[in-house]
Amino acid sequence: MGECDRALLRLATVASDMLFTVKVSCLSVLALTCLPLSSRAADVPPPVTATELVPPTIDVDDADDADDDDDETIDSGEGESRDATPGLDPGVVYSSDVTDNELAKRFVTDLASLGSMSIGFADEGRLINAMQMPAGTAWTVVMPSHAWGTRETIDALMSSAKAVQARFPGAAPLRINHISQKDGGYVRPHKSHQSGRDADLGFYYDAEAGPTNIRDRRPVMDAALNWALLRELVTRADVQVVLVDRRIGTFLHDYALSIGEDPAWLYSLFVGPKPLIQHARRHRDHFHVRFFAPRSQELGRRVQPLLAKRPDTNMMIYRVRSGDTLGHIASRYNSSVEAIKRANRMKTSFLSIARSLVVPLRGPCTRCPLPPPVVVPAKRLPPEQSAEVLAAQPTRS
Ligand SMILES: [Zn+2]
Repeated sequence: MGECDRALLRLATVASDMLFTVKVSCLSVLALTCLPLSSRAADVPPPVTATELVPPTIDVDDADDADDDDDETIDSGEGESRDATPGLDPGVVYSSDVTDNELAKRFVTDLASLGSMSIGFADEGRLINAMQMPAGTAWTVVMPSHAWGTRETIDALMSSAKAVQARFPGAAPLRINHISQKDGGYVRPHKSHQSGRDADLGFYYDAEAGPTNIRDRRPVMDAALNWALLRELVTRADVQVVLVDRRIGTFLHDYALSIGEDPAWLYSLFVGPKPLIQHARRHRDHFHVRFFAPRSQELGRRVQPLLAKRPDTNMMIYRVRSGDTLGHIASRYNSSVEAIKRANRMKTSFLSIARSLVVPLRGPCTRCPLPPPVVVPAKRLPPEQSAEVLAAQPTRS
C-alpha cells in the first residue's frame, strides 16, 4: 500500500460513518488521486481535504433517517431557489418565435396555440396548456390525473424511457409517478411538482425481484438500467436536479465507476460543487427529476402581465404562512374565500403552513412571484470515451 492509499484509507476511516457525499467523495478521491500522476486528466479536481468533503447544498443531518417514510409519493428537500444568475438577463431566448405583440394577441384569442407555459416556481407555481404523459410501451403512467407537465418535461421523459428500452430490450417499463396536475399548483403531499417540471420516477428492479416493499431497495435494483436512465437524463435532457437518497446515489455512482465511467465526470455529477444528483430524504424508492422547461418557463414569465386579460388565468400562487386565514388572504389579494376554496378543491377552510394556494384575482396581480430569467446551463457531458470503454458498457438483448 503506497503513501497515497494509506492517507486515503485514513481519510475514509475518519469519514466512514459520515454520509453519502462523503462516501462518494472518498471513492472519487480514491479513484482520482491514486492514479499515477501522468494519467490524471488536466481537469481532474484537486484532492479534497476532510473538511471539504461535504458540499453545503446537501442535507447532512439525517444519517439514520429514523422518521423516513417509504411512501413513494412523499418528497422533501424540493424547494426551488429564487436566485437569479447574477448580472444575467438574456432577454427573450427560448420563445423568440412569438413577438410581444403576437403574444398579447394570442393570449386572449388563441391561448392553446401558445403551447405549455410554466408559471412561477416548482414549489410555488402552476401550469397553462399542460401536456399529459401519453401511454407508451417504454413507460407506465401510474396516475394519469397527476401526469401533466410542460412539453419539454413530457418529451424528455418519453425520450429517456425509450432510450433505456432501446438499449435494454425487454426491460420493464419505467414507472412514471406524479408530475403535476393539469393546472399545476399544490399537489398532495409534495412541496414541489407545481409547475410541470418535476417528475417522480420509480426505480428499475431486477426482473426476478417481484413486488417489494423493503426499505433498502439496493439489493433488488437493476443497477445497469437505473444508471442508464440517469445517464440518459443528465446527458440528453435539460435536467436541473435529480433528488435521490444518498445511499442510492452512492450505489449508482459505484456502479458507474465499475463499468468505466469517467471518475471526474462522476465527481461533478454526484459530489460537486453543485452536484446534479443530490441527496434528499424520503427518496429511497424513486428519482425526483426536475427539468428545465426553457420555452415554457420563459413564456410563463412573459405572460405574467397578461394574466388579468383572462379570468381563467388570472390567479396567483400564495404560500401559506403562520397565522394566515382564508379571509385574510382573500382580502389582501382582492379575492374571495369561496373562490379560493373552489380553485383549490378545498372542502374545509383548514390551512397548513407552507402549502401553496391558488388565489383567483379580480384585477391585475401586483404581487405575483416572478422567477428570474431562465438560463439553461451547458450539459455536463463525460469526456469522449474510448471504443474499449464504450464496448464494455452493458447492454441486454
Ligand atoms: Zn417528487
